[in-house]
Amino acid sequence: MVRVKLRPKKKFGRSEGCVRCGRKRGVIRRYGLRLCRQCFREVAYELGFRKYS
Ligand SMILES: [Zn+2]
Repeated sequence: MVRVKLRPKKKFGRSEGCVRCGRKRGVIRRYGLRLCRQCFREVAYELGFRKYS
């Protein structure tokens, strides 16, 4: 039940790294996203990964 509509807004010359901040450490390639842990957390929140409890 995960909706992911996010797509890289900017095309970085670097093939790898966080799409958002360009960080290369702790990058999560999940759900087709390339985000570092911090950005993933924020973006995920925006995407609806909020706590439903
Ligand atoms: Zn990031």
